[in-house]
Amino acid sequence: MDTKRYARHIALPEMGEKGQSKLSEKSVAVFGLGALGSTITDALARTGVGRLKLVDRDFVELSNLNHQILYDESDLGIPKAEAALGRVNKINSDIKVESAVVDINPTNIEELLEDVDLVMDGSDNMELRYLVNDICVKIGVPWIYTAVLGTYGMNMNVFPTKGPCLRCLIPEKPSRGSMDTCESAGILFTLPRTMANIACTEAIKYLTDKPTRQELLTFDIWGYEYELTEVERRDDCETCVERNFEFLALEEDLTTELCGRNSVQINPSEKVELPLDQLVKRFESAERKGANMIKINLDDHTLNVFKNGRVIVEGTDDTKKARSLYSRYIGK
Ligand SMILES: [Zn+2]
Repeated sequence: MDTKRYARHIALPEMGEKGQSKLSEKSVAVFGLGALGSTITDALARTGVGRLKLVDRDFVELSNLNHQILYDESDLGIPKAEAALGRVNKINSDIKVESAVVDINPTNIEELLEDVDLVMDGSDNMELRYLVNDICVKIGVPWIYTAVLGTYGMNMNVFPTKGPCLRCLIPEKPSRGSMDTCESAGILFTLPRTMANIACTEAIKYLTDKPTRQELLTFDIWGYEYELTEVERRDDCETCVERNFEFLALEEDLTTELCGRNSVQINPSEKVELPLDQLVKRFESAERKGANMIKINLDDHTLNVFKNGRVIVEGTDDTKKARSLYSRYIGK
């Protein structure tokens, strides 16, 4: 560990050289590398957390650049996990970083948590959070829940062996369309950064064996109003009491419409590795976007083809149309 690099941190009585050295031995997974996940990754990398695992299914778009701090114009079209990996390597070459360009689902989530001490929620959807909650309760890995919308943020530590889980707080997943989304409510650009830094503060406390906050924090950044609410374990919690992990048991939806983006995502039905180089040669309108992805530009649609066989079809929300393009260009 390079003590010069972390001098300001080491000088803190809360941290010291002992705390900093503990951080350097810890491993954290960041699930989702949008606005929240970008700031979380940046903060944990600079802080000197020893190993980071960066996971995201998407690629960088122009509209990301005004609030996702890991990316710049040279990253446009490249998978976020890949761009983030390159960025973190430049920020801190002292730490180990891995990335995975995948759609986190019941079939791969446990594998993604191998040797991970803590999971940071950088996602923007409840489905993924319930899945993370299921696996973390099942295998006893702590995770930190963070959500942002409008000017309003939430943050809670979920430490399965000690306290309540996400389903103690929100027992049933809100149905689709019942909640505002970022598209409908908008989001103040300072909010995700603030909430991400609050989440990282809790992460650093946890990773250095310091007491962490036990309440749910809700914070309105516009009016500077915050509340701390005690959350108790529900006697009948489906996840942490009954240990019925329904989100892990869900059959993976191979074709999903990506909300508000006029895009459809298709996962392959079996494990594959696509020969991206051959595909680029085969289609004149294809171009490489990093090591894990190519883009095939058609007249009305764009196919973003990932090495693991996943495709995001842009330009339609019709799953049938998307599947037909998938079989025409990629295969069955
Ligand atoms: Zn629970």
